[in-house]
Amino acid sequence: MKPSHFILLFLSFLFVLEDMDAQRNRKIFDGPYITINEDNKECMWIQKGRVRRQSITPYDTIDFFDIPNLPKVDLHNLDFDIDSTVSYSNVSHFAAISDVHGQHELLIELLTAQGIIDSVQNWSFTDGHLVVVGDIFDRGDRVTESLWFLFELEKQAKKAGGKVHLLLGNHEVMVLHGDIGYINPKYRYTSRVSRTPYPDLFSDKTLLGQWLRSKNITVSINDFVFVHGGFSKKVIDKEISLSQVNKVFKNEILPDRIIANDTTEFISTMYFENGPLWYRGYANPEGFDSEQAEYILGKLNKESIIVGHTSMPQVMSLYDNRVILIDSSIKFGKSGELLIFEDDILYRGLQNGDRLLLDSNDKEGKRSIFDYLFEVVDSNTILTLKTDVNHLLETKLDKEYQTSEVIISDDLDEPLVFKSRVKVRGNMRKKLCTLPPLKIDFNKSDLRNHGFSNNDKVKLVLQCMDSISQEISVKKEHLVYELYRQIDTLGLRSKLIKVNLITDENEKEVVQGFILEDEENFARRVGGKLIKKGIVRPQSMQREAYLKMVFFQYMICNNDWVISNRHNIETILLDNHNRLFAVAYDFDYSAIVAQEYAVPSHVFPSMDVELRYLRVKGLIKAELEAIKKFYNDERDNFNNIIQGASYLSEEERNRFNSFIDDFYKIINSKKWAKSQLSAN
Ligand code: ZN
Repeated sequence: MKPSHFILLFLSFLFVLEDMDAQRNRKIFDGPYITINEDNKECMWIQKGRVRRQSITPYDTIDFFDIPNLPKVDLHNLDFDIDSTVSYSNVSHFAAISDVHGQHELLIELLTAQGIIDSVQNWSFTDGHLVVVGDIFDRGDRVTESLWFLFELEKQAKKAGGKVHLLLGNHEVMVLHGDIGYINPKYRYTSRVSRTPYPDLFSDKTLLGQWLRSKNITVSINDFVFVHGGFSKKVIDKEISLSQVNKVFKNEILPDRIIANDTTEFISTMYFENGPLWYRGYANPEGFDSEQAEYILGKLNKESIIVGHTSMPQVMSLYDNRVILIDSSIKFGKSGELLIFEDDILYRGLQNGDRLLLDSNDKEGKRSIFDYLFEVVDSNTILTLKTDVNHLLETKLDKEYQTSEVIISDDLDEPLVFKSRVKVRGNMRKKLCTLPPLKIDFNKSDLRNHGFSNNDKVKLVLQCMDSISQEISVKKEHLVYELYRQIDTLGLRSKLIKVNLITDENEKEVVQGFILEDEENFARRVGGKLIKKGIVRPQSMQREAYLKMVFFQYMICNNDWVISNRHNIETILLDNHNRLFAVAYDFDYSAIVAQEYAVPSHVFPSMDVELRYLRVKGLIKAELEAIKKFYNDERDNFNNIIQGASYLSEEERNRFNSFIDDFYKIINSKKWAKSQLSAN
């Protein structure tokens, strides 16, 4: 073979490989990235996994970059203002958001809900200001979309007499400096197939790179000052003005790709952990107090400082609104809030469009630690429990609290650390399981300091033993809770979580578990009162809800519950009702979960665990018809929940489904209906 043939063959081989790569990644869309050259602009984007490039000269008549699934960009309107003003006064209303981290959908949802933009994402905040307090970059996979959206929105705001401020956070500066340790895998793909290091997509030769480099670090509006991390005493004592802070970053820190160790003391104070982009001192009650807040704001000659960077369960005020923390954990992509200022009042702007007064003493409006784990964090989150595990298990029958520490973390961020106590709970499982269910009691002052409500208990159900089958069983039990919440809004909430048990000797074990809502948290959420004392009878229960519960137990084939002594049942009294509602829990003995250790319930010791038994008295025809209709209407929803349980294998999901099919065959048979009615 001639060398030239060999080269051709090799090139076509590379081409085939590249094509396979694009095929595998055909869902990827990214860009556009616009590079500014002397006599043309080059657009690069990823479309269905393939790199596309187009050069645009000044003579081209093409107006818009307009590719489906990508931001639309007006190619004739790529100019932008350089943010050089640092202070604005007489602003009648503003909104602030921070740490979006690639969660573009949630950004849009929040801005729409609070009327900053309209339903087609155009500015609708009149002459108000929107401050984005840094960290658009990293973690999520829709960073480029947020950048183009803000690029366009700032033009619209300006036209309306308003203003968008995009302040840089540490993650912007990291990317501009070439640190790509936190980028989403999607951007590694863009970088690889476009053969461009990711930071070069934002170099000072690119449009977005130039735009980002024109942005401020800090800005003040009326009596408020905004900055991503915060101003530490160290920085404040440098007697540096806000506009000098912006200048130092624009002129010295941003252009220098590497901040060398031998840099001046001044630059390193500005850049590292005490600098305005990294400082986390305000949220740390041991290192900060209202006196220090007064000192810093006195030097700044401002009323309040508004910062992001440290993730909280919601927008939160400290020291009488002197410090406002607005990183509301949008980074997990599930929930978030805005800070709103209107008519001289500060509000938390919620996702559903509501506004609540921002109040440092607000106890009611705060999330509980359970709510945070359930609603906010994503599936990468690990709950680490540090305690004398051996002692806990050796004394498991005593069910006494022992000291522990809980760490909530993922690999990307500062962990949350809480002092706590932990004890074993459960009836049978505490005897049967090597890892029985636990109850964690969080230290209240640690909760307060992290912005949580006083609701301090979280229940934890762990895989009973260290085996694959027990890992599956605990997931199946969680799925039953999910199904139960479908029939009854009064169901306890549960969520799968990986638990890292660390003994005092530093031995680690990661196990599967789920968090389960504690009854106090549950009662507060549904606005009811738990009734713990006295004997209850089925006649004391709200009949319709009771029948739904009984049929649910029949569906999953669970006999391990008793109304009279509330065995695996909570009873709750709701406002405007004079009968009780039953809330079922602990489904590990149900035949659908098929626990290895399940034995016939002590209620019906003679009965096979696999045998269905409808435990209701006095069922009349109209009731039976109504409940059958209710369950028949829910069939598709059950199916969807089961199919969506991707944490279980397809085989397990199918088994779940056919178990439920059997239930439907039974309840829809005439013979069965007759027998149930005549039995009464
Ligand atoms: Zn940050």
